[in-house]
Amino acid sequence: MTRRQALGVLAGSAGAAGGARRISLTIDDFSWEPLRRALGDSWQTALLATLDDYKRKAAAFVIGRNAVPPEGRDLIRAWGRAGHCIGNHTHTHRPYHLSTFEQFSADFLEADRTLAPFPRFEKWFRFPMLREGETAAKRDAMRELLARHGYRNAHVTIDNADWYIAGRFAARLQTGQPFDKNAYRDYYLQHLWDRASYYDQLALKVFGRPIPHTLLIHYNVLNAYFLGDVLRHFQACGWTWIDPREAFSDPAFRSQPAILPAGESLAWAVAKEKNLIGEIRYPAEDGEYIRAEMDRLKL
Ligand SMILES: [Zn+2]
Repeated sequence: MTRRQALGVLAGSAGAAGGARRISLTIDDFSWEPLRRALGDSWQTALLATLDDYKRKAAAFVIGRNAVPPEGRDLIRAWGRAGHCIGNHTHTHRPYHLSTFEQFSADFLEADRTLAPFPRFEKWFRFPMLREGETAAKRDAMRELLARHGYRNAHVTIDNADWYIAGRFAARLQTGQPFDKNAYRDYYLQHLWDRASYYDQLALKVFGRPIPHTLLIHYNVLNAYFLGDVLRHFQACGWTWIDPREAFSDPAFRSQPAILPAGESLAWAVAKEKNLIGEIRYPAEDGEYIRAEMDRLKL
């Protein structure tokens, strides 16, 4: 059995168990420098062209400072003009748990000023590393600030470690030696499907119904190569791609789980709040959890 066939079997069985689901795509960071280095002239259209081909709309959560240089400004403008929503991901990607509320809120407000003029800008905020505050005071202060500025927390439901796989893939590309790129694709698809199935089951348990998902991926070389495969894979598993607006309009996304540290996937956070998952790894996702497996597969 080839890897591709094995994935098909996996997708078929898990898809049948999971049933039809809606999923939307959210892309974080837009740190475009590495993409430019790796792809040359085609870096600006890499992911955008794939979404156009598949006629899918995503939400772009942009680190404000990435939209400041002319290349970055052109890039984010192109995404907005193509109909993808632009959201706030702070100005410098400062993690909240390593900042004071004053530092973090200033970073949020600076990104708001930078990003608000872009087409399709939405008052949607994505916390860096999905860290929403490690004390009740910090968590509630940001919730209050977001509400005061008309923002919503743009929750992720399906978290994963695409950024970690991307780092290893990029390093391999950089060696200049030929290698099997499809092995990375297959591993990535398997990882995403595994995480999607996990968070979907969790969501079903906590909300008592299927909810529309928001998948988190990053603007990186891995997705420049394989975003089309990701879109096709979920579709082949019976899931339907929807506009992120549709997902965020679901009442589940208004949840404000009273957990500490606050954050992580929405399904995970509500499950933790309701005490449905007991002892569980924290953070919920990390490259460390798949390092040994990728080493073993020589990826
Ligand atoms: Zn980020």
